[in-house]
Amino acid sequence: MNITVYLGSSFGNDPAYREQAVKLGRWIAENGHTLVYGAGSVGLMGVLADSVLAADGKVIGVIPQFMVDQGRGHNGLSQLYVVETMQERKAIMLDLGDCYIAFPGGLGTLEEISEAMTREKLGISPRKSVYYNCFGYYDDLFRMFDKMCEEGFLPAEYMSCVRQAHTLEELGAIINE
Ligand code: AMP
Repeated sequence: MNITVYLGSSFGNDPAYREQAVKLGRWIAENGHTLVYGAGSVGLMGVLADSVLAADGKVIGVIPQFMVDQGRGHNGLSQLYVVETMQERKAIMLDLGDCYIAFPGGLGTLEEISEAMTREKLGISPRKSVYYNCFGYYDDLFRMFDKMCEEGFLPAEYMSCVRQAHTLEELGAIINE
């Protein structure tokens, strides 16, 4: 399976996020999956890619030229797409992925996974999106999703598009079901 992972271009304050990114990378490689991601060498993005590669896994990166010019690209990937715009990058990452995972990250991560979830909600794509909610990082966001539902902005039937996994076992079960 091609797994598109959206995650922080920062490390986060707690070293536990890096450790978990290493474990996710190893898990992707050992289960025979391919990582698709934003081709960054920075923050948790770089940690994840390095971990997949270190476990002999395959990594496909998609990055805009301006980020390459800023020295933020990863040079050692199995396959690299260099595109012009952020929109092109997102479209290719959506297209290549058989499923989408949001690991802890910031605004970029939220933007990317929101588009993936919205495509499923609109019936554009059946591919699943999952928040990897390790350490309860996304708990407040899930409270917000409940509020959207309670306040009538997210119809209950679409709550099935909003998935979370707390462990790698749960993640595996969701993407394989
Ligand atoms: P953020 O969560 O705001 O750190 O953004 C990370 C997500 O947005 C990643 O999944 C990338 O696809 C994209 N992104 C944002 N900033 C960068 C960066 N400096 N280098 C590479 N990708 C980035």
